Amino acid sequence: MSNQAWKDRYADSMLGIFGTPQLVLKSGSGVWVQDEDGNQYMDLLGGIAVNALGHAHPKVARAVAEQASKLIHVSNFFATPPAIELGEFIRKITALPGAKRSPSSKVFLANSGTEANEAALKIVKEWANRNSKPRILALEHGFHGRSLGALSITHKVAYRDPFAPLLPNIEWIETGNIAALEAAFSAGDVAGIFVEPVQGEAGVLPLSKQYLQKVRELCDQTGALMVVDEVQTGIGRTGDWMGHHFAGITPDVITLAKGLGGGMPIGATVTMTENATGVLKPGQHGTTFGGNPVAAAAALAVLGEIESGALLNHAKNLGESWRQDLKALDNPHILDVRGRGLLIGIELDGNFAQGVVTEALRAGFIVNAATPHTLRLAPPLIIEAQQAAAFTNVLPELIQKATRS
Ligand SMILES: *Cc1c(COP(=O)(O)O)cnc(C)c1O
Repeated sequence: MSNQAWKDRYADSMLGIFGTPQLVLKSGSGVWVQDEDGNQYMDLLGGIAVNALGHAHPKVARAVAEQASKLIHVSNFFATPPAIELGEFIRKITALPGAKRSPSSKVFLANSGTEANEAALKIVKEWANRNSKPRILALEHGFHGRSLGALSITHKVAYRDPFAPLLPNIEWIETGNIAALEAAFSAGDVAGIFVEPVQGEAGVLPLSKQYLQKVRELCDQTGALMVVDEVQTGIGRTGDWMGHHFAGITPDVITLAKGLGGGMPIGATVTMTENATGVLKPGQHGTTFGGNPVAAAAALAVLGEIESGALLNHAKNLGESWRQDLKALDNPHILDVRGRGLLIGIELDGNFAQGVVTEALRAGFIVNAATPHTLRLAPPLIIEAQQAAAFTNVLPELIQKATRS
């Protein structure tokens, strides 16, 4: 059936919260996907930083199939080996490089980034009540999810306003501004702060090492919990296992999702310090599907392959050289190229990012407009240099077409 016929059926049955889908996709392999009309695209968005190993990776497919033929679900009255092994692997990769694992770290498995943040928020709320520190901080332009809790710490007014009132005592501070950070902590009544090492949804805005270190320092001084939302930046995306590792700090809580399952729905809330690990008591939180063994088996395959395939170094090196090549285009419409590892933002000199996305699709590339003036690339970590170069080479032409129309 054609893309259009499927799109009509989509519009007929699906709630219109995502608008019209660009394509209806049928199959994929590596960085490539095929639509229902038989067209092929290079996927430089990777399901928004999700398909860490690309599409239909044989190891992930096999892990899913094998686990599905044993047990798909057991409830959290029971446990399964893949979930336990995944907890152990997550402790290893969340620890700073060189450390085996954080002695205090513990893992809660959820089903999405939103849910991972929701659990983190409950930890911070309980900490707030326990210590009579009412204020919770988040950063301007930050994104943490769409449930009522996660939405409460998400900055975008258009996302929040229709659902007000949301959680109280949440304040946004200017992203990257150390003076604003110090001022917000000065009264000593902050329970916790949520930060993203690179704000992906905001248009790929990286936080500096100094800023992350200052957050850690202020949290230590005042007894606040530092929550790092690694949903988009974790699992090798930035060239380290965690997007904050370059800053050499250990947060109190880390949240993970997107790349973790290589496409299977899974999230994790990781408490890294004794303070955070001690907060939630039995019965204070829960989930039916979290810890699902099929999702856990997929995640184990993903983490194992990133490790054995040396994909962290690959993401770091290719990301660096790709950004340099994009800058070297010296295109008058490109104001900035930024990011870390294989999370790349291309800042344009006008609100025509969506036009470039459309032209890219025509030319056989899937990219994303994170903002009206920022292109975002978050390809599978397995992408090769010549595939990246193919996009770099065609980008000037895409920009030219988008600005002409
Ligand atoms: C995508 C994202 C979320 C939400 O994750 P879902 O899996 O869509 O619930 C939260 N935080 C960040 C930083 C994200 O990029």
